[in-house]
Amino acid sequence: MGLNIQEIRNDFPVLAEEIYGKPLVYLDNAATTHKPVSVIEAEANVYRRFNSNVHRGVHHLSNICTQAFEEVRKKVASFINAASTEEIIFTKGTTESINLLSASFGETFFSEGDEVILTQMEHHSNIVPWQLLQKRKGISIQVVPVTDNGELDMDTFEKLFSPKTKLVSITHISNVLGTINPIEKIIAIAHAHDVPVVIDGAQAIHHLPVNVQQLDCDFYVFSGHKMYAPTGVGVLYGKRKWLEKMVPYQGGGEMIDKVSFSGTTFNELPYKFEAGTPNFAGVIALGRAIDYLKEKGLSDIWDYEHALFEYASEKISEVPNLRIIGKATGRTSVISFLLGSSHPFDVGTLLDKLGFALRTGHHCAQPLMDCYGIPGTVRASFAFYNTKSEIDQLVEALMRVEAMLG
Ligand code: PLP
Repeated sequence: MGLNIQEIRNDFPVLAEEIYGKPLVYLDNAATTHKPVSVIEAEANVYRRFNSNVHRGVHHLSNICTQAFEEVRKKVASFINAASTEEIIFTKGTTESINLLSASFGETFFSEGDEVILTQMEHHSNIVPWQLLQKRKGISIQVVPVTDNGELDMDTFEKLFSPKTKLVSITHISNVLGTINPIEKIIAIAHAHDVPVVIDGAQAIHHLPVNVQQLDCDFYVFSGHKMYAPTGVGVLYGKRKWLEKMVPYQGGGEMIDKVSFSGTTFNELPYKFEAGTPNFAGVIALGRAIDYLKEKGLSDIWDYEHALFEYASEKISEVPNLRIIGKATGRTSVISFLLGSSHPFDVGTLLDKLGFALRTGHHCAQPLMDCYGIPGTVRASFAFYNTKSEIDQLVEALMRVEAMLG
């Protein structure tokens, strides 16, 4: 059917902003996406009309709020095709979801000397929580190398398994290179070794359809703010068989069954992992963001963004002295590059003055930067509200910046 991009752009008020008197060209969508009016309104509406703590009150407002909150759990379960709503845990975002796993899965299933397999292209959020577990429990971390063109070295991956391997935790799409990892294959290999798999879906959930039962992943995590929903809300999907055995992550209200000083028992799933008042307004707005994505259609979004990416890859290569970092065959939505010997920060600063929002630096992926021997990159990342015309403008601006920094 195709997307009506102008109509979509009109849904995002911030896209009409000007920066230094120039129209904003926002190409930092891998860091965070903008929010359509319907999502902004959904969150504001909670505060306007039925703000009340969830699961706690017998009163009318609390019931409405609880119902709206739990409806989103159903919506998320259906969006990723989870087997049940009990497998959907609301968190603050991807980072908290992975910290929950390292603390809780780590505490329950890891012993000294056990191993977790990560990759060289992980975001710090999928490295540091495991390093904290390493300090606490004396586990060891095995790392899958990345090839020059930005793909995982699958031969080495297979060789990293040992009887001590307890978990594989891996990103679905690289936030720096845009590489789409072969997660079906990775999950099948890991399962052949009886090892469960965590997929960091922060860069994937809004770009392509995710079906956790078909993938057969054990955990899948993502953030609301990268999928057109508010900040401070995210999801941990986990197979019930693991979640049931895992010890609680945080203690507090809601996660308990009965509390006494002689011993406390815990609530059932998913509440066992949702201590304290959740970000219910954010969760309710996340539900609206899912509606928005479904209205537009993930397959049309994928087609449009992929066409945009291919156009951008070709056009941007016309800029003299521009080097794209990462050339995997399966890629989308993200182009990282360097301009001659200029520092990414200088390129980003000049682009900013011309109205362009791009990310510069190590993108919270320092081990990957080390692998390429670079301090950072400039990163353009696209959403379905971006246009070919914006890419043309970027290319023109890059030509100017290149001439200036020469
Ligand atoms: N994982 C990946 C691949 C990411 O790109 C990001 C954010 O950029 C994260 C994890 C962390 O997400 P958040 O900061 O929303 O928790």
